[in-house]
Amino acid sequence: MSEHYDYIIAGAGAAGLSLACNMVDGALSSARILLIDQDLKQSNDRTWCYWSDETDDLEHLVYKSWSHLSFLNEAHQHGGALGRLTYKMIRGGDFYEYAWAKLRDYANVSFRQERVLHYHSTTNGAGVVTNRASYTGKYIFNSCTLPKPDPGAHFLLQHFAGWWIETESPAFDPQKGYLMDFRTPQKGSTRFFYLLPIDERRALVEYTVFSPARLQPSEYQSELKTYVEQTLGILHYTIAECESGAIPMTDQIMPKEMYPNVINIGTAGGAVKPTTGYAFSRIRQQAAQVCAQLESGQYPDSRVKSPVRFRFYDQLLLNILQNRGDLGKGIFSSLFRYTPIETIFRFLAEGTKLWQEAKIFLRLPIPTFLKAVWRVFGPMKATPRERKASDPAEKAPVAWAIPVQDKLQTP
Ligand SMILES: Cc1cc2nc3c(=O)[nH]c(=O)nc-3n(C[C@H](O)[C@H](O)[C@H](O)COP(=O)(O)OP(=O)(O)OC[C@H]3O[C@@H](n4cnc5c(N)ncnc54)[C@H](O)[C@@H]3O)c2cc1C
Repeated sequence: MSEHYDYIIAGAGAAGLSLACNMVDGALSSARILLIDQDLKQSNDRTWCYWSDETDDLEHLVYKSWSHLSFLNEAHQHGGALGRLTYKMIRGGDFYEYAWAKLRDYANVSFRQERVLHYHSTTNGAGVVTNRASYTGKYIFNSCTLPKPDPGAHFLLQHFAGWWIETESPAFDPQKGYLMDFRTPQKGSTRFFYLLPIDERRALVEYTVFSPARLQPSEYQSELKTYVEQTLGILHYTIAECESGAIPMTDQIMPKEMYPNVINIGTAGGAVKPTTGYAFSRIRQQAAQVCAQLESGQYPDSRVKSPVRFRFYDQLLLNILQNRGDLGKGIFSSLFRYTPIETIFRFLAEGTKLWQEAKIFLRLPIPTFLKAVWRVFGPMKATPRERKASDPAEKAPVAWAIPVQDKLQTP
């Protein structure tokens, strides 16, 4: 006999915990809610950064924020002041602790540390089977299992490894981070560093690559060492923590449900912006949307609204990054050279007007984008089967099989 709940949240990461917190904060505070995760999420397994021009309810968790971010290549430095925007960092461990401190106050919220095996629909809702038990609910919210990959979609990974470093003497301006530092060999794919200083002596530095498959761990480490010691000229430092991960970059349309009443949320529910890997703000928006729908008795629709033209832009950039990864550095250089960084952030958050987007595109390498339009929409457009055969991602068995998060490891 299965235990029955009103709502089952399978996966207690960013999306699952955001949804549960929204539920208890509103009209669903007395609903019977079950959270299931195979992991207790007690470590700082990732850091989330996002930007906004207003304060939000997670302000007290913001570990550090920046008002200046730069783009660098060997010849130029662009970017600078973010205008009305602030770039904020929240450490995963702080978010999990905050969410659980809130949820533990509710006797109607339960947690099981179990591994989800599969879901099914029932007459009045849905069921989940774990390695220990089975449960039923009116709705199940899934962020554990990603939908089957669509071979016709573009697919890349944004994969990265980072070090939290501490230097012997002051080495950073705590107000100024590097969003993209391209002073590194591109090796046929788009590669850059991300540097976020916490204070004068501490910073998070990450080596990021957009490509179909992850590198060997030693490759990230050697690139990080070269960057810190040769590019930044920091010779005396210690590595306090390490972080690594891979985020899917795809234009695949994520189905809103796996089965009737099994609703996808988070990465599984299409919350990741395909060309940037940013998802945190959209996950929180999605949680609020789903909660409001449940409160008003509607069938939940987790799809985050996105104007159609942004899907088109994402498809073009993904097509270029997948077919001509070597061109990424030039595209990002043009983008940051001619467009204020505040506008770029608003564009990435899909909050710009058409005329602003036209201005951005006119300063990008137009022939490269026209070729991508031809590849994506032209008469020679590959059918999913053809694209599958020629897709480098197909040759590397990555697809969804990769874990989308890694545990924090200390060297
Ligand atoms: C290292 C890293 C850094 C990131 N940084 C940023 C950032 O700075 N800004 C940003 O906007 N986005 C960032 N992202 C992207 C995105 O915000 C995160 O991946 C986010 O955590 C996705 O939320 P989620 O709930 O979909 O997945 P998760 O947070 O990964 O939650 C999924 C949960 O499901 C559990 N689970 C998985 N399989 C099972 C199973 N079979 N049974 C039971 N439980 C299971 C996992 O333990 C996990 O707790 C980052 C991603 C990573 C990996």
